Amino acid sequence: MGGSCYDVIVIGAGVSGCAIARELSRRRVSACVLEAEEDVCCGTSKANSAIVHAGFDAATGTLMARLNVEGSRLMGPLCEELGVDYERIGSLVVCVARAERRGLDALLARGRANGVPGLRIVEREELRGLEPNVAEPAVAALWAPTGAIVNPFQLTAALAETAAVNGVEFRLCSPVTEVARRADGLWDVATPAGALEARVVVNAAGVHADELHNLVCAPDDRLEIFPRRGQYHVLDVTAGAHVRHTVFALPTRLGKGVLVTPTTGGNLLVGPTAEDIDDKDGVDTTADGLAEVMRKAALTVRDVPFSERIRTFAGLRAHQPGHDFVIGEVPGAPGFVDCAAIESPGLSAAPAIGRMVAGIVCELLGNPAEKDELLPRPAPIPDVARLSPEAWSALVEERPEYGRVVCRCRTVTEGQVVDAVRRPLGARSLDGVKRRVEAGMGRCQGGFCSPRVAQILARELGCDLAAVTLAGPGSELAVGADKDAWAGAPAPAGEGEAR
Ligand SMILES: Cc1cc2nc3c(=O)[nH]c(=O)nc-3n(C[C@H](O)[C@H](O)[C@H](O)COP(=O)(O)OP(=O)(O)OC[C@H]3O[C@@H](n4cnc5c(N)ncnc54)[C@H](O)[C@@H]3O)c2cc1C
Repeated sequence: MGGSCYDVIVIGAGVSGCAIARELSRRRVSACVLEAEEDVCCGTSKANSAIVHAGFDAATGTLMARLNVEGSRLMGPLCEELGVDYERIGSLVVCVARAERRGLDALLARGRANGVPGLRIVEREELRGLEPNVAEPAVAALWAPTGAIVNPFQLTAALAETAAVNGVEFRLCSPVTEVARRADGLWDVATPAGALEARVVVNAAGVHADELHNLVCAPDDRLEIFPRRGQYHVLDVTAGAHVRHTVFALPTRLGKGVLVTPTTGGNLLVGPTAEDIDDKDGVDTTADGLAEVMRKAALTVRDVPFSERIRTFAGLRAHQPGHDFVIGEVPGAPGFVDCAAIESPGLSAAPAIGRMVAGIVCELLGNPAEKDELLPRPAPIPDVARLSPEAWSALVEERPEYGRVVCRCRTVTEGQVVDAVRRPLGARSLDGVKRRVEAGMGRCQGGFCSPRVAQILARELGCDLAAVTLAGPGSELAVGADKDAWAGAPAPAGEGEAR
């Protein structure tokens, strides 16, 4: 093998890989991120509860606990800097029986030992004042004022964009198929498009990180990651105010249990289940799983308006039996660094994970010099739904495509879709647009806007309409006879020309 040679290759463009890439882009290193999918944020980072956990859940002394608390502290300022939606709404772990009270006290003690600020127990009356729809039997709750919600799509994309504008190369649709250490100490990294070389390799491959680890480790140091599925209901924005905070049940052996929470987009999110499954692509939902979520949510929150449900989805936790993050150079594989088993709270911990892993890489590379400054990502795409009428009018004056609404449910304009495509690492599919500007995330779930967005994508990408995909190669929107009719459909009027 042999090909382009980098100081460091990061495998995986989820929130971990992108946070690492952004930290690496502060240094004078040549870095490349290889991602199997057609976009960043296509794995677990796009399918989770979107909570910035305060940090009371992980066992004291674990890496998970330390990085969660540090990540939670870093997340607010980071989101502010990147222009990512983040709200510190606080969280409540609700205890619904006197007999469970000891569990709540234990959680409080653990949180304090982990260094979580501001934790306290709130009793029945105060709890009702804080959260009027808490279930009738609720007797007390653990209040964590530093608990928050974040937009994981925006966060991952913003981290990646910052890394990209600061010189990190991203190769999408590039699944790594082989990693091997050469006699000269460099790593060969194989993808279907050819081989690359690197001095250091970072394994941030989510539920697949064990497969890469096991290519390079000693026989007695194998890693096993078991996908643990979590299923959710997403309720429309009409239900988003049903709770004011993230409401958790007391955690169980399998995890943090079912929660009810608002999202930064104003929806209500209810889930997840915790099911150990065999399939690392098994992100389907089941009637049983969704029914279980409904049943369990009712234990902590009353009258959850499930009639407002607009979507269900599932994500996979990268669970390993030791239940801690696995971060560090693999013994016997110098220059191969794991960032593996990043299960929950990996999203919360991402800013701290980025720093830690980049620190390890820099040490391995002999501490390359820091750049004078980190260039900011391009300004976030204007969210017209949140603009004042005056600000929106001024924007339309300057860019008329911001006056043409394509997604009625979320009020997303053609201008936003165009900008989602034109950004560094811009959207290349319907889902890519959805993650960046929320077209298709509303009540009709893209029923109205998908054809319009597809037409804009085709125009912007300079491709045939029939080549536009839902989520990358193999998910073309039209096939066969439909495809021919679709390809002939007129493109919407617009300013933007194909690039
Ligand atoms: C149900 C559920 C709820 C959760 N809720 C929360 C929460 O509320 N708060 C929180 O902090 N955390 C939560 N988490 C955990 C959090 O989502 C994860 O820890 C985090 O997203 C992991 O990010 P990652 O980048 O490590 O993995 P991923 O996002 O999975 O990224 C890995 C990437 O690697 C790519 N890849 C894999 N193999 C290869 C290969 N061979 N070559 C190239 N690319 C490859 C994948 O395509 C993927 O894009 C939850 C997880 C689940 C499943």
